[in-house]
Amino acid sequence: MYHTHLLGTSERFAVGKIVCLGRNYSEHIKELGNAVPDKPVIFIKPSTSIIPDGGTVVIPDYSNDCHHEVELALLIGLTGKNIPEEKAMGHIAGYGVAIDLTLRDVQSAQKEKGLPWEIAKGFDTSCPLSDFVPATRVKDPHNLQLTLTVNGETRQDGNTSYMMRSIPQIIAEMSEIFTLEAGDVILTGTPAGVSRIESGDVMAGEIEQVGRIEVKVK
Ligand code: MG
Repeated sequence: MYHTHLLGTSERFAVGKIVCLGRNYSEHIKELGNAVPDKPVIFIKPSTSIIPDGGTVVIPDYSNDCHHEVELALLIGLTGKNIPEEKAMGHIAGYGVAIDLTLRDVQSAQKEKGLPWEIAKGFDTSCPLSDFVPATRVKDPHNLQLTLTVNGETRQDGNTSYMMRSIPQIIAEMSEIFTLEAGDVILTGTPAGVSRIESGDVMAGEIEQVGRIEVKVK
């Protein structure tokens, strides 16, 4: 079981499920040639996919095209089901930085066949995840610059203000399907600039006011 920390406090959370939103930034939808969804595109990564800051990503040998997706992560601190939008922010304990690693070649093949995405999205090491800063320390989570560099070169440079679904909307919609438990993590989608990573690369994801995570690729 993976435990995450709420920085500056003694609180630790056993991470349960990681509920992820796809296609939440229009420029990223365009770069992959996807359609803008009317309903949220939701999938789950298991907690066994998490690696901490300083960890090593191992790309499975059934893929030749692993992509980085830097995302704002939400740590749920209060369990809820059918959470109304106006109460959603009260369920967030903290904010963190996640990288939703995706085997794009495998995902594309699965999409074509109408098959599930887990083998492309949920493999071991597919979720580098920082510790979390308490929610009270982030002024406006809908206006945070988020960047990802590979070997020091900027690949993704976006802002959470470009999200199409707001954080309360995401929590409300996800909690209609899944009970969100304390310790669950939500990934809110990635801005444009996703690209391939290779053996030996060093990736760093950073979100202002929230933190930074750096991992290497085996
Ligand atoms: Mg993603």
